[in-house]
Amino acid sequence: MTIFSPRSLAEALQVIHEHPTARLLAGGTDTMVEINFRHFEPTDIISLRYVTELQAFADQGHNFRVGAAIPYKEFENGSYAHVSRALSEAARTVGSPQIRAAGTIGGNLGTCSPAGDTLPVLSALDAQVELASVNGVRTLSIHDFMLGVKRNARAANEIISAIHIPNIDGYQGYAKVGVRNAMVISIASACLVHDPKNKRVALALGAVGPTIIRCRDSEVWLGENADLSTSAPLSPEVLEEFARRVSSEARPITDHRSTAEYRTHAVGVLAQRLLKRAMQ
Ligand SMILES: Cc1cc2nc3c(=O)[nH]c(=O)nc-3n(C[C@H](O)[C@H](O)[C@H](O)COP(=O)(O)OP(=O)(O)OC[C@H]3O[C@@H](n4cnc5c(N)ncnc54)[C@H](O)[C@@H]3O)c2cc1C
Repeated sequence: MTIFSPRSLAEALQVIHEHPTARLLAGGTDTMVEINFRHFEPTDIISLRYVTELQAFADQGHNFRVGAAIPYKEFENGSYAHVSRALSEAARTVGSPQIRAAGTIGGNLGTCSPAGDTLPVLSALDAQVELASVNGVRTLSIHDFMLGVKRNARAANEIISAIHIPNIDGYQGYAKVGVRNAMVISIASACLVHDPKNKRVALALGAVGPTIIRCRDSEVWLGENADLSTSAPLSPEVLEEFARRVSSEARPITDHRSTAEYRTHAVGVLAQRLLKRAMQ
């Protein structure tokens, strides 16, 4: 195979423009597994390791622009742990310290698995995905970027350059269920963001549908049945009805990790737990 090692974003964009079937390689924690299991035999690889622009970070006041190739460890407890508490919590659950030192959010978006741990967080925060190509830069809502199981809206000659994460005051939390407490892919996951200024709660679910599910109906119901301008505790009836509605928005399947029934139940429990934490 041919391995390209561009030294700048402009160079990387030129290489992928000329080799649109090449595989981009960031941390390699998804790609190397595919290669090792012979699920994928690359002819051209474009390593993003030396493209320093993809590691750039900017605090833009209303949002943070985070380079797509910043590894998880920086969000977990490193330089960018302040960006989003939910993102820190999600990053902490990814693989092992070795995986978190190498793996990136850009790679999570590139793979676009419904079980990807950062994706419910980006969905609940209404993040934007920045895509660069030789033709320029476009920004897509995370909701338009994720298309289905391991499918996204990146064009063949584009590189995910950054993610724009809104800077929201208020509670944000991520919770995940797996078969054990570490080194585990989600059976079900949820991210809840409480934005008291705008009197709203956003909730996104992972691993219970072909892609991440935003629970728009449950969010609207909660806005109509609870005072979301403060963080006063909610009644058990409201919490239970919220959980029931969230479960009904899930579209899980039964697979080798879990059953659809368990996943449906689990997301209700996670949603209720996160909402309780938000309103404590
Ligand atoms: C042992 C182990 C445990 C794991 N545990 C978890 C877990 O708990 N939770 C979880 O969510 N994931 C987990 N993963 C999967 C993986 O670590 C994540 O999906 C990670 O985010 C991938 O990032 P990466 O930089 O390593 O991606 P890579 O493997 O380099 O790339 C993955 C895909 O994204 C594309 N890509 C990468 N960067 C870009 C870019 N900037 N622009 C466009 N496309 C790009 C690549 O071309 C490729 O298709 C685990 C993997 C392993 C091996």
